[in-house]
Amino acid sequence: MAAQIIDGKTIAKTVKEDVRGLVESLKARGIQPGLATVLVGDDPASHVYVRNKQRSCEELGMHSVGHHLPATTSQDELLALIDRLNRDPAIHGILVQLPLPKPLRAEPVLYRIAPEKDIDGLHPFNVGKLTMGEPRFVPCTPAGVMAMLQYHKLPIEGKNAVVVGRSNLVGKPTALLLMHRNATVTICHSKTADLSGVCRRADILIAAMGKAQFIRGDMVKEGAVVIDVGINRRADGKLVGDVAFDEVAPKASWITPVPGGVGPMTIAMLMQNTMLAAAGDGESSAPSGSGR
Ligand code: NAP
Repeated sequence: MAAQIIDGKTIAKTVKEDVRGLVESLKARGIQPGLATVLVGDDPASHVYVRNKQRSCEELGMHSVGHHLPATTSQDELLALIDRLNRDPAIHGILVQLPLPKPLRAEPVLYRIAPEKDIDGLHPFNVGKLTMGEPRFVPCTPAGVMAMLQYHKLPIEGKNAVVVGRSNLVGKPTALLLMHRNATVTICHSKTADLSGVCRRADILIAAMGKAQFIRGDMVKEGAVVIDVGINRRADGKLVGDVAFDEVAPKASWITPVPGGVGPMTIAMLMQNTMLAAAGDGESSAPSGSGR
């Protein structure tokens, strides 16, 4: 069996077209969705991510303001900027690009963002809502993973889903979203015993570990749906996922490529969350069909 490709670029385009339409109707009501990006320091990858997010905003007719601060910025200065953005009526969503340069700490900054502007879904209030099965703003990458499964109407209920990775950004929220859609979820991490055996039981396998091409063909069940969240730059400069695509694709039923899989979905879901924040409609930003 050769896997069908889950084309993140195409699905992201569809999501963005929907967002563009909704932005138009908000503008007709006198509301232009506004995103503030906050970038501290000079990490080249972070620069690229932020630029792409700003560009997407502009393409969709949203207002976008970029704050680029030097790596020497103090924790208090950063918090003061968040306070100003929280008060700014033209800004509906605040995105602080992570990681922050040392010695800045991310948690106090994420906790300071007003929950109704927390379009990355990392404030404890929004994390709590997601945990309770009442998602408000869902972190963009997990939301993108769910949107891909939903786009192709891939069954989730009753399936064995294995999530490799337990970060607050990707692994944990993805596992919660799958559980709320009635999958039976196993979360794996660096201390998991017999990772291969656990992965081989997965009907839906989500790789979010940040280890280049770690998931090999013999770790995947015939017919599994494989979503590769990983983005890793190999020594030869090539961008690869956490999944050894060439080995896994012949066994999987559906698979995401890297690049062109989950990556474009993350930005599309950020645009969707910003639009929903502007609409004052965070309650409905959750992927639909909680199944409960
Ligand atoms: P992270 O915070 O470093 O978390 C990695 C997780 O993988 C941890 O829970 C870790 O376990 C687990 N892990 C690491 N090595 C493992 C191993 N050998 N066996 C089993 N589990 C292992 O990374 P992240 O932020 O979640 O990101 C994960 C990947 O997704 C990265 O490649 C990142 O670049 C990518 N990413 C992509 C997008 C996108 O838009 N496509 C967005 C965000 C992230 P422990 O908890 O035990 O340490």
